[in-house]
Amino acid sequence: MYDYLIVGAGLFGAVFAERAKKAGKSVLVIEKRNHIAGNTYTEKCEGINVHKYGAHIFHTNNKQVWDYVQNFAVFNRYTNSPVANYKGELYSLPFNMYTFNKMWGVVTPEEAAERIEQDRRDAILGFMNDGALAEGTDGDRDSFDISTFTAQNLEQQAISLVGKDIYEKLIKGYTEKQWGRPCTELPSFIIKRLPVRLTFDNNYFNALFQGIPVGGYTRMVEKMLEGIEVRLGVDYLANKQEYDSLADTVIYTGPIDAYFDFSLGHLQYRSVRFETETLDKENFQGNAVVNYTDKETPWTRIIEHKWFEFGKDEEGNNIPKTIISREYSSEWKEGDEPYYPVNDEKNQTLYQRYKELADSCSQIVFGGRLGEYKYYDMDQVIAASLKCFSEVNK
Ligand code: FAD
Ligand code: UDP
Repeated sequence: MYDYLIVGAGLFGAVFAERAKKAGKSVLVIEKRNHIAGNTYTEKCEGINVHKYGAHIFHTNNKQVWDYVQNFAVFNRYTNSPVANYKGELYSLPFNMYTFNKMWGVVTPEEAAERIEQDRRDAILGFMNDGALAEGTDGDRDSFDISTFTAQNLEQQAISLVGKDIYEKLIKGYTEKQWGRPCTELPSFIIKRLPVRLTFDNNYFNALFQGIPVGGYTRMVEKMLEGIEVRLGVDYLANKQEYDSLADTVIYTGPIDAYFDFSLGHLQYRSVRFETETLDKENFQGNAVVNYTDKETPWTRIIEHKWFEFGKDEEGNNIPKTIISREYSSEWKEGDEPYYPVNDEKNQTLYQRYKELADSCSQIVFGGRLGEYKYYDMDQVIAASLKCFSEVNK
């Protein structure tokens, strides 16, 4: 009899297993796929650590989590600085002085701020003409306080934050491809905060700590699971009762709706399809991430994996080939890999009903991105697992 049966060898499961073993507990991990590390899984091909389920960049403000992961990997100095390609024009992301200089030729922060302000004002006054004028105004355009404007959809939200030029070239096409719907039909909260920086700073994240584990995520998770029994290619749900009988407590990190046999209906996800190609050249795009922000290009972005580790192998040699992945966003349908939970009201309500069922089950804890139906980043899932362990193992 094990103390813990852990279903899923992703980050939530691996961290829980590591903590439990460290506390002297006996642990069995079972995993449906034929590999560990869940969606952070990296596989070495041509000397390059390929992020098999999409680009994963570790970033956190949580010192405890940052200190914890240092036990299992050395993190390099990778900083995410995606480039946007709009019909062959290249722009720096997130929106900063490099972007504004390229877009408008402005040189100083004052010039950029003035230009954005003017664009925002024109756009909001344009919405007023379309009948979206905020209540309580007397129609006096010059004195209208644009900060009182409330966006009705993502398009209005984006334009009222950064103006039409940036919206048209860097937001509209990308967002519509990613979500498969026009921006006028998307809720504004998706881009509540579009960082606008009046500095020359291409760092996409505002995190205190950032990097990629040298040697890939799989190696990091391997280290977490060192000395722990892991069975791969095992579907817990196919033999639930048998597996339940092996342990006192089950930690389940698979989809919560699947656990209950979809008895209340299916939760929805967004899916992504990856098309990966090895190229017989050293450098394809000169950056790990390039977003294609026009609507004509069918993919949302291209990842060139070698640049997560600066194009070098572990001995510091240049790698002669390169591997790229094109990402296509798609509506999730049954049988697809569930990637992003759709946290809209309908799905959130359904999740709450599943959660009530889960809370009534004893000896089982639901955790992680699928178990809690929550769009966790890696650092958040690690923090959640550490917390879960300290609560369960009182
Ligand atoms: P998972 O990694 O999904 O692990 C769950 C595991 O359970 C899986 O291996 C699954 O096979 C297994 N399982 C499910 N059902 C069963 C069953 N019945 N029996 C046995 N095993 C089962 N985060 C960042 O911080 N930075 C990023 O840049 C970033 N980029 C991302 C890009 C993409 C495309 C995606 C999808 C996610 C990204 N994330 C990123 C989020 C990150 O992947 C997650 O936070 C993290 O992987 C979640 O870990 P988890 O253990 O909860 O889930
Ligand atoms: N976005 C955009 N253009 C870009 C990158 C992002 O318009 O080049 C918008 C888009 O609406 C997207 C949101 O910003 O849904 C968040 O994107 P990000 O890549 O930061 O987050 P993720 O999709 O990984 O959750």
